[in-house]
Amino acid sequence: MKKVLVLLLAVFFCGINSAQNFDNYFENKTLRIDYLHSGDHVSESIEVKAYHAGGVWSGTRAYLIEPKRYGDILFQVFDAASDKLIYSRSYSTLFCEYRATERALTEVGHFEECVNMPMPKAAVKYTFTMYDRRNVGKLLYTGSYDPAKESPKPFVKECEVMNLHIGGKPENCIDILFLPDGYAKEDAKKLEKDMKRFASYVMNCTPYKENKKYVNLRAIKGYSEESGITDPNGGVFKKTLLGSSYNVIDVDRYLMCLNVWKMYEVADDAPVDIIVLICNSDKYGGGGIYNFYGTVCNGVPQADYVIVHEMGHLIGGLADEYYTSEVSVMDYYPTDVEPVEPNVTTLVDFDSKWKSMLDPNTPVPTPATADHKGILGVYEGGGYVAKGVYRPWLDCTMKIIAYNNFCPVCTKILVDAIGYYANKELGK
Ligand SMILES: [Zn+2]
Repeated sequence: MKKVLVLLLAVFFCGINSAQNFDNYFENKTLRIDYLHSGDHVSESIEVKAYHAGGVWSGTRAYLIEPKRYGDILFQVFDAASDKLIYSRSYSTLFCEYRATERALTEVGHFEECVNMPMPKAAVKYTFTMYDRRNVGKLLYTGSYDPAKESPKPFVKECEVMNLHIGGKPENCIDILFLPDGYAKEDAKKLEKDMKRFASYVMNCTPYKENKKYVNLRAIKGYSEESGITDPNGGVFKKTLLGSSYNVIDVDRYLMCLNVWKMYEVADDAPVDIIVLICNSDKYGGGGIYNFYGTVCNGVPQADYVIVHEMGHLIGGLADEYYTSEVSVMDYYPTDVEPVEPNVTTLVDFDSKWKSMLDPNTPVPTPATADHKGILGVYEGGGYVAKGVYRPWLDCTMKIIAYNNFCPVCTKILVDAIGYYANKELGK
């Protein structure tokens, strides 16, 4: 088993670049691109709105070319002089989910999006390529940025930063940042207490606790005009710092933020790789979008589970392993295509998933019987689909409301993700 794991890690890390490449092409500063992503079920477009620059570059330096694409959008940066690919990362956004909803059949949606990259030393060309659920990529936008000619808006320090857990320097750690929403000035004590509480949920969960020297956790102290979170189905509308709301894309418990440019602006007060919104609300809800941001609410008993589950989507690109749920997306995982999410398979290309981690005596598919509890297998049902999509474990944190219960596959993916930001091969 150990040999197999080492082999898998070697495959993941084959995309390694030397830190030298970073110094050749980039400086220790972040460039942020704000853009508008518009479209419907069949068409879409991108319009770049602003450049911002400042802070440090807290992202990866060793894996400038992302080893594996887990997101629907592939962002690539090329040195303009040589046309060499010098940086890439993938991520997903709310638009990627919107385009699969029924509403998108008749209505064009407009979504704010941002992408961060290290500041280039010379002129670059960048592209956005969109992948559909059949893994077919389509070049959507080509832009250029020349640091000698552009005048990006500087990062402006707005709020106080709380250090919740510091494992090391930003360039050696995954930098997780909590942003509060719906906390008014009079909720200041609650804000501080909640940030500490959520930090303990993360740091007491595997694999964060075993890798704590590669994790930084900070929070922004930012206040809203009003206390609480917008809930359109409940007739509640609040003026908050980031404008988070329930019932986004017509799913009642889907709590997301539509003011993404503002969110990234508030987040640039601290080194940041991962943004998690802590929302001041008692109603169950949350969401996590790969490499984009996640949300949780502070007032539900399962908050410890919700944050680590949503961070599974956000950091690892993990799929939901459950399959009975209120989800408005249609045909989310076509069963004749291998999904990109690492913890579900349609068995179309199981070799690319956790096949090598299986005990050779485990049947594929694996019967979902009690005697298989705690056994890595291939269980039917996952990714919202009862038939034709399979998951690795009976009761992973990505399937059921259970804190600190990630399956071996999800654990490995999260360890790899921490290593990506820490520029280190972890978990061997
Ligand atoms: Zn899992």
